Amino acid sequence: MTRVIITSNANETMLVGQELASEILENEVDRSIIIFLEGELGAGKTTFTKGILKGLDYDEVVTSPTYNLVQIHETKNYRVFHFDLYRISEPIELEEIGIDEYLNEAKSLSIFEWPKNGDVSLPSPDYLIEISYKDNSENDNRELTIS
Ligand code: ADP
Ligand code: MG
Repeated sequence: MTRVIITSNANETMLVGQELASEILENEVDRSIIIFLEGELGAGKTTFTKGILKGLDYDEVVTSPTYNLVQIHETKNYRVFHFDLYRISEPIELEEIGIDEYLNEAKSLSIFEWPKNGDVSLPSPDYLIEISYKDNSENDNRELTIS
């Protein structure tokens, strides 16, 4: 099932992330959940991730993991691995940091920005969120497609 949502500011995009978190909490999934976030630079991938974390009751500051590849956040229900693969040049770099251990951890959420850079080193996701600029750049509208 695919959903398309238009947001007109960062808060609305966060809210969509919060709703996804609520859905995951309600389903009481206890395996590892994989989320791919696709979209250009500045589309709102990190903003959406902040929404997911807010929805998991996490109230510490969330920054982009661009320089560390992954940031780990302990929330009440899930351990969240927030990956940003923007700067990796080969999928093998993921093997080198032990990606399988992250992906096999029960009750965890692995969120990937720029998942295409991980290519063959990543399984297919449970959720794919594609974020794009909507109506040129005259406004802050984004189109979010969740599948
Ligand atoms: P990315 O991680 O995709 O590079 P960020 O989430 O870091 O993008 O940045 C998105 C920027 O766009 C933020 O400065 C945010 O405030 C702004 N913004 C404006 N409108 C929106 C919107 N509708 N959804 C998400 N972010 C928006
Ligand atoms: Mg980002």
